[in-house]
Amino acid sequence: MLVGLDIDGVVADFLSPFLRFVEKKTGNGPIPAETITDLSFKGHPVLTEAIVEECMVAVSYDPDFWHHLSPLLAPAEWEALDALSRQGELVFLTHRYERESYDIHQVTSDWLRKHGISKPVVHFTQESKAKLVEDLRVNLFVDDRQENCQEVAERTQATVIMPHRLYNQSFIHPRVKRIKNFNELLGYLR
Ligand SMILES: [Mg+2]
Repeated sequence: MLVGLDIDGVVADFLSPFLRFVEKKTGNGPIPAETITDLSFKGHPVLTEAIVEECMVAVSYDPDFWHHLSPLLAPAEWEALDALSRQGELVFLTHRYERESYDIHQVTSDWLRKHGISKPVVHFTQESKAKLVEDLRVNLFVDDRQENCQEVAERTQATVIMPHRLYNQSFIHPRVKRIKNFNELLGYLR
């Protein structure tokens, strides 16, 4: 069985440092994570899609931003993932941008190694994750973004799992299973 895990919002806390970055960049007061009810940021009282896009591009050029992300998993959960990884049953699938000024592959792999994945395999794409899931023959796909979950559910045979987050609560799909904590995912692997 091959498991394909998204990184940001699944194993790495992207949203909190990103909001701190947006606050600095725009000079806004605090933007509480609870105000993000949708990752497209539509209808947000302060953030526009243009501001978000501009900040996404800005952090994509900053290796330190990615280097300092906090993990979302407990040590025992990292250990379980490392066991999978050692058996060749784990890949990471990410939409992180690749820039010429530094090597995001290296930064991402170093970060995963720091948290206990001894031989991380990371695939970067700016295209659909469904295509990667098909090409790599991923059986179990995990992502926090509704667009990715929907696409993989509708275009591949993979089991699709979405960790529960404040910003994806409204999404319901008959082929997407929700989990409230990471341990439930480990249940799917048994
Ligand atoms: Mg994500």
